[in-house]
Amino acid sequence: MRAVVTRPGAARAWVAEIPEPTFENGDDVVVEMLRVGVCGTDRHVMARPRGDGRGLPPDADYLVIGHEAVGRVVRIGSGVRSLQVGDIVVPTVRRGCGECPACAVGQADLCFTGRIRERGIVGLHGFLSERIVDTEENLIKVPDELAQVAPLVESLCTPEKALRRIGNARAHLPVGGPLHGVQRALVTGAGPIAVLAIMALRLRNIPTWALARSPADSLAARLIERSGATYVPLQDVDLERPQSRLGAFDAIIEATGAVEISVVMLGALGPNGVLDLVGGAAERKAVPIHASALGAMVGRNLTVLGSVNANHDDWLAAVRDLSEMRRVFPGAVEAIITHTFEMNDVDVAFERVPGQIKAVIDITSA
Ligand code: BGC
Repeated sequence: MRAVVTRPGAARAWVAEIPEPTFENGDDVVVEMLRVGVCGTDRHVMARPRGDGRGLPPDADYLVIGHEAVGRVVRIGSGVRSLQVGDIVVPTVRRGCGECPACAVGQADLCFTGRIRERGIVGLHGFLSERIVDTEENLIKVPDELAQVAPLVESLCTPEKALRRIGNARAHLPVGGPLHGVQRALVTGAGPIAVLAIMALRLRNIPTWALARSPADSLAARLIERSGATYVPLQDVDLERPQSRLGAFDAIIEATGAVEISVVMLGALGPNGVLDLVGGAAERKAVPIHASALGAMVGRNLTVLGSVNANHDDWLAAVRDLSEMRRVFPGAVEAIITHTFEMNDVDVAFERVPGQIKAVIDITSA
């Protein structure tokens, strides 16, 4: 079958003919892939240096990439109970280490050892192929009408986890309402995760601001405003004193991955505020931080947390919220997918182009 693969040192991906995945009767399910999203993580995977074989599956000299996917069930093992042939499903990404207490209860997103594998990222082939096999527990059923946009379920489960963790971090506060009294929220960035985070906050009727580099008339800014959030271009803000233009926030989701912005955002938190970093970059560089920023963490009871991946409930929340977003913000979810490619377009599909929010590769075409 055809698949899009990469290899350490190649700095690119290409279409290859690879063997069909192995199906074992039991709880295995064969899924015919429909659409797979392209994400910044794919570019990091493709950029791994020659000789760095850690990301490859055992005995393979290539990795099938892609981890934001949707497909249709075409065959089920005799032990499968919750899925039927024809169901539309989204595969989850992370597989547990099999050793730690979190992975033992299916919470690989909280793995203690770090020896996890992730399909299309580390140690396991991804989803950019004509067919995949996975077990029932790793496949999330989605309504048929989400089939076109369902690669966004994976993008959305990251902000779903962030919202859950922000709520947990504020659970001790003597205030009620969404996320324990979040009255003003900010999201930094204008990529798919940021736009979906903003829509998820707006679904909860939380007054929300967005801060990013994109021009105010960009598609991302317009989608953000269509959800009822306020878009502020980054250049309009004095990064030494972010509160002077933006006011103070009870919750901030940092989705640019730029460490300078993370540091600035500490200064935009109000009392008991929570900053959740979801766009961590593994750069080796130091950024200056005022001692007073850490002093304010003490003085204002601030929480800074980072969150990666998502648990099963976050995936279910993402499916629910994506359906709800289509109903409440008509056309906006579809508009997040700005570019659609075929497998044969692999040379251009992973390029970042101006105006792009989310690109997907349609496996069924050509
Ligand atoms: C994916 C997550 C994954 C993380 C770390 C992200 O791009 O969406 O599923 O856990 O990368 O590899």
